[in-house]
Amino acid sequence: MKRTMTNELSAHVGESVTIQGWLHKKRLLGGLNFITLRDRRGIAQSLVDNKDELEKLRGLQVGTVLSLTGTVTADERAPGGAELHDVTVEVLVPVTDEPPIEIDKPILHKSDNLDTLFEYRVLNVRNLQEQKIFKIRASLTRYIREYLVGNEFVEIDTPKLLAEATEGGAEVFQMDYFGKTATLAQSPQFYKQIMIGAFERVFEIGHSYRAEPSATTRHLTELTMLDIEMGFVQSHQEVMDTVANMTKDVLTRVYDEHEADLKSLNAPELKLADTVPSFTVAEIHEMYTKGTGTDTTTEKDLTPDEERWIAEYARKELGSDLVYATDFPKEAGKFYHKFKDEEGTVAWADLLFRGLEISTVPLRENNYEKMIEQMTAAGLDVSHEGFKYYLQAFKYGLPQHGGCGFGIDRLVQKTVGLNNIKEATLFPRDINRLTP
Ligand code: ATP
Ligand code: MG
Repeated sequence: MKRTMTNELSAHVGESVTIQGWLHKKRLLGGLNFITLRDRRGIAQSLVDNKDELEKLRGLQVGTVLSLTGTVTADERAPGGAELHDVTVEVLVPVTDEPPIEIDKPILHKSDNLDTLFEYRVLNVRNLQEQKIFKIRASLTRYIREYLVGNEFVEIDTPKLLAEATEGGAEVFQMDYFGKTATLAQSPQFYKQIMIGAFERVFEIGHSYRAEPSATTRHLTELTMLDIEMGFVQSHQEVMDTVANMTKDVLTRVYDEHEADLKSLNAPELKLADTVPSFTVAEIHEMYTKGTGTDTTTEKDLTPDEERWIAEYARKELGSDLVYATDFPKEAGKFYHKFKDEEGTVAWADLLFRGLEISTVPLRENNYEKMIEQMTAAGLDVSHEGFKYYLQAFKYGLPQHGGCGFGIDRLVQKTVGLNNIKEATLFPRDINRLTP
């Protein structure tokens, strides 16, 4: 038996073929029995009119795994323009319980319905509309890989079980590790910087863990992060350009490949300018104050409303869904950032996509003595085990480098135009959810 896929039927009109998949839908139409079969490519319709064959399906429910052999007949009303007639049925895996949801109907993504969405996740990922989100997600990460590998970045994998909460901060998961305390990595920050000393350019797509204590529409406790780090950079701008060019390339390719899917998911039209517009935080405060009448010029960081405002401005006035906010105040910087001492700011940019921070793109301090100074000033004990190995990389030579932490889940969320980051995640983890 050679298996034909559901989307290939129209190329086999008049031939006898076998398709295999899940019973997706049963329909009784005035004595005509149509069944829809789903495989990895989509769905196809079959007409089962022989009594004995129909009998094999008696009592069987959606989800039953079937092998159907029949003659391909052209019919423009059928999905794909062809269907199977004179069908012989073979039941591979019978299902006798009716599924708790209608697989053929997508579960609504309204915010008060999200619990239902995840409660039935195992089954609703069988819905074709729901699947589109995760195929788009798979393409986004594939194109990211292709772009970075094409630019001489080496993909690395680094540990997620750590001895110390090296980056600090409150959002750390601690766990018992054979009688000692271990923490889950909040990012691959230290390891990717260490690897600059070997490969110059590295990236990782992996999970990071943050004990975000509240339920927001943009935070997960287990997130998928793209981390990029590149050495021998001449300027912060060079790092920003790399991240911007990658993002533009990936979005363009995904909008091209998934045009129909994105349309059917009501994704916004993609707007990209030749260069990603860039404003300092101070400039945004000024523009926002002028534009809205609400004075933010004494604020240090950007407020969430300012993020939305500058994104709207960039889309409307500059034709760009992407915008950089740069030069964050030095108070917001971390010990491994490059500080611009005269300006009192950090060489740090946030990339906003449709109003949401999707990436933080800083330059790092690469001088060993300066690092020790900055760590000490941040109240850290540089002789601590957790820093010993990290500092070795600096002691034995790191060129000027920079990179980014880039949230894949947020990228998917904003590409598709979903309200909540969890909708962009197969099995999301947040403060209230550890299953499925
Ligand atoms: P935020 O201020 O939005 O909480 P952050 O500045 O703390 O984010 P970074 O440490 O800069 O986050 O992490 C790099 C990127 O990883 C962010 O730009 C974002 O896209 C993503 N990210 C960070 N934390 C989360 C999270 N809890 N859930 C999902 N994505 C996240
Ligand atoms: Mg950030």
